[in-house]
Amino acid sequence: MVRVEKLNKSFGSLHVLKDIDLTVKESDVVVLIGASGSGKSTLLRCLNFLEHKDNGKIIINGEQVENKTHDLNEVRQRVGMVFQHFYLFPHKTVLENVIEAPIMVKQLPKNQAIEEGKELLDKVGLGDKYNVYPSTLSGGQKQRVAIARSLAMKPEVMLFDEPTSALDPELVGEVLATMQELADEGMTMVVVTHEMGFAREVADWVVYMHDGKIVEYGRPEDLFENPKEQRTKEFLSSIL
Ligand code: ADP
Ligand code: MG
Repeated sequence: MVRVEKLNKSFGSLHVLKDIDLTVKESDVVVLIGASGSGKSTLLRCLNFLEHKDNGKIIINGEQVENKTHDLNEVRQRVGMVFQHFYLFPHKTVLENVIEAPIMVKQLPKNQAIEEGKELLDKVGLGDKYNVYPSTLSGGQKQRVAIARSLAMKPEVMLFDEPTSALDPELVGEVLATMQELADEGMTMVVVTHEMGFAREVADWVVYMHDGKIVEYGRPEDLFENPKEQRTKEFLSSIL
């Protein structure tokens, strides 16, 4: 579903992604872990074409995407992204937030967008919140709206960049549960998170990044119980 080959990205003289190779198969959940500054967000942003890679290949569902030859807005519809901060439209209701892009970008008829939007909100447990404004919601509810909004574009892959890091601890579980449900339904997902419980339970693969490189990847049980690389051991013992 997603393949990255020899991806490199620098900001000025700062080499942030170094020869990244990554394959994400359909329905796989890949969890990216690593210290702050190791390049996790930049990698996700390259996959969503919010950042332009310097070189290397990004292949989405069999199609090699190049900044020059592709309509990146069209590609971004296929790769949904959920951020740490939710970026909901404050002056729109929950349902209006969810139907905005399908109507404006995909030209979906309004009644169809509403029907699908309500279904998605029901699915993320917000069936009673269609008509309220985001300011009245908890952080966990806002993030679930953001997930529904992203799903409304029917992406082929979902990227999550620390979706629970801005939440009060008691609200983390509801967002992780929504993500787990999505994973169980077969969504292909790449998730940056510090929630190691989620990584152990839900990930098919865990990727450890350090200093712009993939140091180690493996099945969660192997990577957490038997890390091969010294750096991975150090990182895990620093967080667990
Ligand atoms: P992580 O998400 O793992 O914390 P990031 O991908 O955000 O790491 O950042 C990797 C490195 O790239 C950091 O040193 C960060 O300061 C730098 N960086 C990220 N975005 C930019 C940018 N837009 N301009 C310059 N430097 C950046
Ligand atoms: Mg980050």
